[in-house]
Amino acid sequence: MDLNTNIKFLNRVGETTAKRLERLGIKTIEDLLYFFPFRYDDYSETKKISDIRLGELVNISGTIEMIQSKKSPRKKISITEALVSDDSESIKVIWFNQAFIGKNLKIGDKVSLSGKVDDDYGSFLMKSPGYEKIGNSDNIHTQGLVPIYHSTSNISQKQIRFLINAIIKYTHLLEDIIPENILSEFNLERLEHAINKIHFPDTKEDIDTAQRRLAFSEMFLVQLRSLILKRTLKDRKANKLNFFEKETKDFVDGLEFQLTDSQRKTSWEIIGDIQNETPMSRLLEGDVGSGKTAVASLALLNCFLNKKQSAFMVPTEILAQQHFQTLSSLFAKQNINIALVTRTKYFLGKEKSTKKILLSKIKKGEVDLIIGTHSLIQADISFKNLSFVVVDEQHRFGVGQRQKILEKSGLPKNFSPHFLSMTATPIPRSLALSIYGDLDISIIDEMPKNRLTIITKIINDKNQGNLYDFIRKEIKKGRQAFVVCPLIDISDKLGLKSVTEEYEKLNKNIFPDLNIEMLHGKLKSDDKKNVMDKFVNKEIDILVSTSVIEVGIDIPNASIILIEEADRFGLSQLHQFRGRVGRGEHQSYCFLSSDNRSDNTRERLEAMEKYNNGFELSKIDLKLRGPGEFYGTIQKGFPELKIATLFDYELIKQTRKKASEILETNPSLDNYPILAKKVADFNKNIHLE
Ligand code: ADP
Ligand code: MG
Repeated sequence: MDLNTNIKFLNRVGETTAKRLERLGIKTIEDLLYFFPFRYDDYSETKKISDIRLGELVNISGTIEMIQSKKSPRKKISITEALVSDDSESIKVIWFNQAFIGKNLKIGDKVSLSGKVDDDYGSFLMKSPGYEKIGNSDNIHTQGLVPIYHSTSNISQKQIRFLINAIIKYTHLLEDIIPENILSEFNLERLEHAINKIHFPDTKEDIDTAQRRLAFSEMFLVQLRSLILKRTLKDRKANKLNFFEKETKDFVDGLEFQLTDSQRKTSWEIIGDIQNETPMSRLLEGDVGSGKTAVASLALLNCFLNKKQSAFMVPTEILAQQHFQTLSSLFAKQNINIALVTRTKYFLGKEKSTKKILLSKIKKGEVDLIIGTHSLIQADISFKNLSFVVVDEQHRFGVGQRQKILEKSGLPKNFSPHFLSMTATPIPRSLALSIYGDLDISIIDEMPKNRLTIITKIINDKNQGNLYDFIRKEIKKGRQAFVVCPLIDISDKLGLKSVTEEYEKLNKNIFPDLNIEMLHGKLKSDDKKNVMDKFVNKEIDILVSTSVIEVGIDIPNASIILIEEADRFGLSQLHQFRGRVGRGEHQSYCFLSSDNRSDNTRERLEAMEKYNNGFELSKIDLKLRGPGEFYGTIQKGFPELKIATLFDYELIKQTRKKASEILETNPSLDNYPILAKKVADFNKNIHLE
């Protein structure tokens, strides 16, 4: 057995369990060691039964006096009841639907139990506590600081703990990427020790020191890679994309609107960059609806006029289709060959194509601009001379993908395309720097002038009648409406409004005379496109949808968005939803429906009524919900950060400094073979992805 041994060779892991573990990303012993708990239940104190109090989380040990399982007569669930006593007192224990416990535990068995103390008509009761027999082994499930793992219902906490306990002895085989001198400089413990303690801590301090140590190595690796990428990009050349002044001016004059000053300024920064022989790396930040697409299109145009290929990458298929249409009509007079590439869709201009044909045309350079989802950087695609890449609304586009695009670009070996990332999330500069290595930032800080402020109102079930009257009136005027719900099916989770349910209600009871359709992620891609097309063509009055419409969708004629269970979403997300309306000349409305009356909810939703500015709202969200939610979307792009967070600026600073020192003294990493191997592994994985 070693770290790379497949988990299916472990005791008590069969095919099924192996598959289930694999779904959690665990294939090898090493993966399992790196599968960290996300919290701990504190059962450090074992109490006498006579000392426990109502509501307490406790561990007790005692003897089973009585135990039996039975079916409840009405509800078809099984109930296992037991009486457990120690030398002070006894307590009743109940487990639901775990009939096997009645077979596992026998009268006279000594057990350790952990859980909350409940009330049972005046005396105490433990409901479904953690349990284990007291024997020769450590009581890892019910005593001390008990680790809790993110898991699926198929695999129990006990199973995970059992397996990790069985392999924890292999930690000494782990190779530490952090050199000895850095460990001592920052007073960090050895990897072996940290991994041990993250799973089975003796004290809370153990958890803290282990987390600090593991966060350090995670961030250190991210920083090292980002610096290596920065170095690579610096050494690389880019195709100089000359500025076609007259053509650009004509194009701008042909737009339906006048660019805002901010759009002009940022366009100019980008066009300035791509005229250089070093690759651009720029982040364009601008609130929802500020017109980032138009800014990108000026650079796309110039890339085309330089007879080079460009790509426009977006996070969802719906958005890809939408951008495909927008850019096709923006460039209608330009004779640009524009293609759409998603997982299932291939279009060249108006013509449907096949994957094989389209990819070969892209490779031959017969396509100028390729719009698509992540499929754009999949294994089998390669470009002829990809010189400019736009990544829209996609904070997950990390170092890895960039590396990948470098190699598919079709450019000479020491070349890179120019990169433009666009986002409506206000990412602080320091963070942007550390994520992407080296990045310039342009900010659009004004909205197009023709915009009317969107009127936002919190509503609850009581005033729904008026709301529906209002919606009907707007639709009679020719407008369209979005209704957003948190879930697809009722069965997804009880009590929350679902798209299908809401659709049925609106379609049958409220607006039988209007055209209503649904949109959600489970629809087939053709159906999604179909629904979106119909909405664009005004054949649909009300679109009931999940959060799939969150980013980027642009339907200027839609003037109402009703968000059900609005409290379920973050402010930034609500602001993104709201950005789906108010895109044309019509007065627009955003209705936030919520029956949650907590102060925090109220405060958050009222902030939506008060502020129309995404940056302002992000700040409030950060304050009210904490950084986890706020940076969640950005952090998602860094699956390797299991413990470290992207907003621990001190950690970022320390690790960046150390990583850069190492690269300076030893650019090839020869002196750090373990580190060199980790970096190489990472690059290899990107290619296999
Ligand atoms: P976002 O920055 O959220 O990506 P879009 O690029 O989708 O915003 O633009 C939102 C809408 O505003 C589009 O319909 C676009 O045509 C329009 N638009 C862009 N710039 C201007 C402008 N300067 N004046 C008026 N409308 C504009
Ligand atoms: Mg956009």
